[in-house]
Amino acid sequence: MKKFLLYFLLLALFSPLVMAKTYHWKKGTTFLSFLHKNGIPQKLYYNLDAHDKELMAEIKAKQKYSMLKNRKGQIEEILIPITEELQIQIIKIKNKKKKYRISLRPIPFETLKGSIHLKIKKSFYKDLYAKTHSKALVTAVKKAYGNKVGLNKMKKGDSISIFYEQKRRAGKAISRPKILASSAIINKKKFYTYLTSNGRYYDSLGSEYRKYKKLYTPYIQPVKMKRVSSGFTHRRWHPILHRYRAHLGIDYAARTGTPIRATSKGKIIQLGRKGGYGHCITIQHANGMRSLYAHMSRYRKGLRVGSRVAQGKVIGYVGSTGRSTGPHLHFGMYKQGKAVNPARFVRVKQSKRASKLKGKKYRALRKTVVKYRSKFKKIRRSGGDPLFVKKGNYLVKRSEYIAMK
Ligand SMILES: [Zn+2]
Repeated sequence: MKKFLLYFLLLALFSPLVMAKTYHWKKGTTFLSFLHKNGIPQKLYYNLDAHDKELMAEIKAKQKYSMLKNRKGQIEEILIPITEELQIQIIKIKNKKKKYRISLRPIPFETLKGSIHLKIKKSFYKDLYAKTHSKALVTAVKKAYGNKVGLNKMKKGDSISIFYEQKRRAGKAISRPKILASSAIINKKKFYTYLTSNGRYYDSLGSEYRKYKKLYTPYIQPVKMKRVSSGFTHRRWHPILHRYRAHLGIDYAARTGTPIRATSKGKIIQLGRKGGYGHCITIQHANGMRSLYAHMSRYRKGLRVGSRVAQGKVIGYVGSTGRSTGPHLHFGMYKQGKAVNPARFVRVKQSKRASKLKGKKYRALRKTVVKYRSKFKKIRRSGGDPLFVKKGNYLVKRSEYIAMK
């Protein structure tokens, strides 16, 4: 206790800064009005390039952000997350009154590795959930086995080993768990699945596990494309500009007035100006998917928030409103609120066959298989080391659990 008091006393005496405070981004606040309200020159925004200006429209209502003020009450630093990995930093230039710099910064996170060995008592789902309280982990394991292996049929006496990783920040998960390797014994038969560098899962001999699905509602390209003028980048260090760049959508170059079509059927949930995106429409689709169409010259007549649109229906026309260097459509897609690469969805998908690894890729897989052989053996004995541990009625973080021991 004494130590703490002393610490705060020293902090108060010698530190010119006070602690950063957390706020919530108010609904309807534009980035410009935010700067104005906080006495930060708006040219900070105007000096940004078009893509970075677009990003400012990505700040979500109720988004938590932090502000650090010095003892004179001047703003020293503001950090506003725009994706899970990237934040806007506004920082005061030292010894200059009211001079600020703005840049994109990565949000630090750690990737934690976990492992689990589970002897089935009731069912795969119930037992794994009881141990980890993570539905996302259950889903991820199912996906790793495609639908070739009947995890749902697992019974008492069967077992499963799982190696996985998850991105965390301050102990909180910020990504879905990623299965690295898993082995299951179902009715005395052994199954293995391994993640390879192409992001797909294969068994020990290089046959792919893939969930066969009938063609799901596809998403069509919203404009007849001439060319893609800018692709999707989530968080990328630009070696020449020496800073982080992000572009949360695809830019299709097209003439002003080119019709824009709804990528899939849905309901319009936003229609109007949206910061750097200019005239903009957002459509809510099934399965937590949203699509965004920006820089429009005009909307189709009669559309409003709440209107339902069919796939392929014209919703507006290409333009150059907002922060744009020329007529184009900025097309964004979001899954559960997170920006995803539209190219992953819009491409016309043929029902792909499961593949078999050959050559170099097959040899890489075999190396992975050998690496995990001893690892599987180990966790069969130890039970593994999950990222969450259940302790009595509480679920505690692994780091805390270790500290308690
Ligand atoms: Zn764009």
